[in-house]
Amino acid sequence: DLLVVGSANADLVIGVERRPGAGETVLGSDLAVHPGGKGANQAVAAARLGARTALLARVGDDGHGRLLLDSQRAAGVDTVGVLVGGAPTGVALITVDPSGDNSIVVSPGANGRLTPGDVRTAISLFHASRVVSTQLEIPLETVVEVVRNLAPGSRFVLNPSPPRPLPTEVLAACDPLIVNEHEAKVILGDACVSDAPEDWARLLLAKGPRSVVVTLGAQGSLVASSAGVTRVASVKVDAVDTTGAGDAFTAALAFRLGAGSALAEAAAYASRVGAVAVTRKGAQDSFPTADEVDDLCCA
Ligand code: ADP
Repeated sequence: DLLVVGSANADLVIGVERRPGAGETVLGSDLAVHPGGKGANQAVAAARLGARTALLARVGDDGHGRLLLDSQRAAGVDTVGVLVGGAPTGVALITVDPSGDNSIVVSPGANGRLTPGDVRTAISLFHASRVVSTQLEIPLETVVEVVRNLAPGSRFVLNPSPPRPLPTEVLAACDPLIVNEHEAKVILGDACVSDAPEDWARLLLAKGPRSVVVTLGAQGSLVASSAGVTRVASVKVDAVDTTGAGDAFTAALAFRLGAGSALAEAAAYASRVGAVAVTRKGAQDSFPTADEVDDLCCA
């Protein structure tokens, strides 16, 4: 029912006292290897909530690729669309300093080799999906091909991360376009003439999407469509680690839209899912089941 088209990365994390300068070596903690990448994260988040989910992605024929396939399968994601080979699996090299700040180098690897041809070959997955969710850690031409291959009546959800200017054809298909503050500013570019998120939502809508969601962390989110702009509250929680919160939010929203919820209702559910995710460490490890989301709202 939900098809996620996107990236799959191995996150290689090392804690450091401080980052090395040019030509310098520092010693760090033991290496931790986690499955990540926005596409893989979204697919796991949706499947854990109970959505029937498939992932269209590309990994390398290597240990990191097998780690990603295993984590998808463990969450119940259909991996028939996970293509193997062509380049090493995408990797994020992450150092974390004692204050919790990250420095990240991403090697897109196989993600950069997910081609428009791969999209056309997976057409049966598009016919089986009411909602297709994508991000920008894969080539933009591949995202364009996704838009062109949507089945009639199916809905396209885009989180433009990492953000870059988008072709009109892609913007027009979004229902919704989901952005955080940084992404909103980059997509708006010179058109970002206001500091008010309500204005960003309206300005983004004017660029052509059928609907827009602006996520504002602990401040909740804004839902915008031709019916107007509505604020959706966040759930008050003690945030421990916001990694993956945006991916959990987007996946939950796509899942609820596929189940027939209206946009504001889906955003309210997604806020609860994002709230649980920030109370736990990690990305995929932090994503809740539907029961855990229900428990949060009754607490
Ligand atoms: P991103 O992770 O993409 O930067 P946000 O920080 O806006 O996106 O987080 C996405 C969603 O996760 C928010 O809209 C909200 O629902 C939830 N969320 C994030 N941070 C918090 C927080 N501190 N408290 C409660 N909910 C949060």
